[in-house]
Formats: sequence, structure tokens, C-alpha cells
Amino acid sequence: MNKSNWDYSIFWKETLNQLRSELSEQEFLMWFDNIIYKESTEKKIILSVPSSFYRDQVKERYLSSVENILHNLSGSKIEIDFSINNTPSPVKKEKPKKISSSTVKKSKPVAPGAINKKHPDLSDGYSFDNFIVGDNSSFAANACMAIAKNPGKAYNPCLIYGGVGLGKTHLIQSIGKYANENSEDIRIVYVTAEQFTNEFIQAIKDSKQHAFKNKYRKVDILLIDDIHFLQSKDATQEELFHTFNALYDSNKQMVFTCDRPVSEIKNLTDRLRSRFERGLNVDLIPPSFETRIAILKKKVEEKNVVISDEVIELICKNVTTHVRDLEAALTKLIAYADLLNKEITINIAKQQLKDMFANPKLSNITIDTIQRIVSDYFNLTPNDLRGKKRTKAIAFPRQVAMYITRELTEYSTTEVGLEFGGRDHTTVMHACQRVDSKMKADPSIEPYIRNLVQKIKETGTK
Ligand code: ADP
Ligand code: MG
Repeated sequence: MNKSNWDYSIFWKETLNQLRSELSEQEFLMWFDNIIYKESTEKKIILSVPSSFYRDQVKERYLSSVENILHNLSGSKIEIDFSINNTPSPVKKEKPKKISSSTVKKSKPVAPGAINKKHPDLSDGYSFDNFIVGDNSSFAANACMAIAKNPGKAYNPCLIYGGVGLGKTHLIQSIGKYANENSEDIRIVYVTAEQFTNEFIQAIKDSKQHAFKNKYRKVDILLIDDIHFLQSKDATQEELFHTFNALYDSNKQMVFTCDRPVSEIKNLTDRLRSRFERGLNVDLIPPSFETRIAILKKKVEEKNVVISDEVIELICKNVTTHVRDLEAALTKLIAYADLLNKEITINIAKQQLKDMFANPKLSNITIDTIQRIVSDYFNLTPNDLRGKKRTKAIAFPRQVAMYITRELTEYSTTEVGLEFGGRDHTTVMHACQRVDSKMKADPSIEPYIRNLVQKIKETGTK
């Protein structure tokens, strides 16, 4: 029998109606808005979904109730099959074309993903394609995808929060990238809260507030990373408050990230806090063992190297904090294997990653020790690190010492700030980010920081 004789689309429609009444609107939109009915065969309905992740999630969460509803409706058992549609639908519906009689152009529909625009604010490495979704991040990732497809409509504003290295920047940038590539004429701005602050201060200095306002209040999507940086920055908060209102009133999408729930940001005006808390607040938590494995496998694949499952498991068992540490472990192994042109055996991995695996936070390393060893290394004194001077010769060593303190001890950023001459905790966070990005940009930095860490650990645990 020809498969076109079967058409269960009407059952599917009714199933959707029932699900809509059973689920919350958000949940329904998140999981069912992206499913497209494709075709039917004698015993099956074939649905098209955007990704294998999506398929697995829908299967796990809803398959049995969907099949139940179908059974009730049709009186027979109809199964669901999924096909994966790799070409997502364009974010924006095509605009009606103005056609003038003299210039009738052929309309060129935008093939999904075909607008190969690079966005100046966004970095290439972050996209939904290389974000591994696990149970720790599925809600956040799906919300972000919904936003990228439907900016201003799905969840507005949206705030993603969670500790360092869990993928906040990755996700917020992916929204920008996806929207940028899938729609024409869309204005997207991505900034860190720190850049936003600096630009604002500069605009005041140069009497260019007008240009600043124009830039931020005329966007379709505003993405601001790390808003905890706005703590105590009253004038910038005020400016963002007005930007927020302007964009909110015109249904423009805003997404923010933060390293903690908004309620825990100190010195944030109530009115701005309440704006951030409007809309969707979603958290990212550290990945489970299974998710860590999936992430690491993906990274191995991306880097085009061969690493045995045994070694991958070893890493994932021992590195439990966050994705950035997983990456660091992998990078170290690859560098080692490259250098010696050796295969990475389990023993090499154990030996190379020994210090990453040990839980140094449990040791009794003091800030004094760190300050002493770091200042020594840079030919300074511990007092230089605790003092007020901000010359280049001191500022970077101080940042390194703060970074190492955060890596090796349980002290909070506030406590670390106090130990470094009563500095604000945002200064500490900033220092850590600086060191992190410098290490990424300049491969010569990481080895000596690692050396310092090693030295401090040896001293601290003696
Ligand atoms: P955050 O902004 O939360 O501190 P990032 O987005 O910078 O964290 O993530 C740290 C690193 O880990 C980045 O290189 C990022 O690409 C990677 N990463 C984080 N989560 C994932 C994930 N789920 N899948 C793939 N890579 C991830
Ligand atoms: Mg980040």
C-alpha cells in the first residue's frame, strides 16, 4: 500500500491540543513548537525534530503520554518515529516584499543557516551545534534556542545564571550567532557588563551619550554577559535600567548572564533587580558524569585527536567541577602527547593530570603562601601585591596571585579581595577573567602559572 494513503495528521493535531491543555505554556512551546508533522505510514507518525538531543528529550519526557493519547484517539496503536531536521527554520518570517512595477526582483527566500554573516561581537567557537546539552543544561539550552528562533517573543527577558565555566557565555553567544545567521536585518549587540560600563563612562567623557543610547536602544537583541559586574556601579545601572525599559516596551529581546541568582547581587537597585527577575531566570549547574563524558567526547572529536574511552572516563571521574576544567585537562594531555609524539595511555594520563585530580581545595594552602611565592617569582614583595599601586609591573602579578588563590583555596572573592589590600570582590573576579583570557591568548603564560601552582601546592601541603 502506498504510504500516502495513511494520514494521521489530524490525530497529531488533536494530540497537540490535548498536550497544550495539560502542559504549561512554556513547556508546551519549548518541546512541541519545534516539532513538525512529516508523514504517516500504516502504524507510524513521523515527526521532524531539530536535533537528536531534542528527540531524546521528547522521547524520555513525553513519548508514552503522546502514544497513549494517540491510542485513545485512533483506537489502535500508532507509534512515533522521529526524523532529524538539520535545517532549522528561519527565525523571522519573510517580510512581505514590496514590488514595484519597474524592478520586479525574484524573491530569494533565505535558506536556513545560509546567511553567512559573521558578527563582530561574537566569537566563532560558540554555537548551539557544539554545545552539549545534558540534564544540567537542557532547560537553559532549550530556552536559548527558543529565544534565538523567536527573539522578543519566547522568553523576554531571559537571565541565565550559574558558576564559572558552565557555559553561560557559550549559550548567550550562541543565541546571537543563530539569530544573526538565520535572519536578515537583525541588529544584535553582545557585550560583557564590563564593556557596557566602560563604553558608558567613555561616552560621558566624550559627551557622546546620545550615540551610546542610540546603539543600545535600537537593537533587536541585546545580550549582556556577566551582569554581576554591575554591582555598585550606580550610574551604569541607571543607564541600563532605561535601556531595559526602552527595549522591553518595544518587545526587543534581552538576555543576561550572571554568576549567581540576581537576588544575591549586592548593591543592585531594586528596580533593576526586579527587571532582571522579570521573564525567565534559568540556572546552569555542574554537569553529571554522563554529561561530562559526552562533552569531553565532543571536544576530542573537535580537536581531531584520538583518546581512548578509558582515558576519557578517567578524566570525567576526577574532574567534577566544570567544563572549563575538563577542557584544561584535555588540552594538557594533547599538548603532552604532541610534544613527545606519544599515544596517551591511561598511565600517562594519570601521571600528567595528577595535580588536577588531587583536590587541592582541601589542603591548607594560605593566601600568605601564595602571595609570598608569586611575589617572589616576579621579584616583588608580598606587600606590593597587597598595596595600592597599579603599575603594570605589579598589577598582573597581583592578578595572577588572585587567580591562583581562587583556584587553590575555598576563599570567596570577597575574602580574597580583603587579603589583597581591601579590594572589591568584582576586582578579584575581573582579575581571574583577565588571567584566564591572557592564558588563552598567550600560550607562554600557562606553563609558568602551572609551575607556580605546583610550587605553592608543594609548599602548602608540606
Ligand atoms: P561561563 O561563561 O559560564 O563561565 P563558558 O561559556 O565560558 O562558561 O564555558 C567555559 C568553556 O566550556 C567554554 O570553552 C565552553 O565552550 C565550554 N563549555 C561549557 N559548557 C559546554 C557544553 N555544555 N558543551 C560544550 N562546551 C561547553
Ligand atoms: Mg562567561
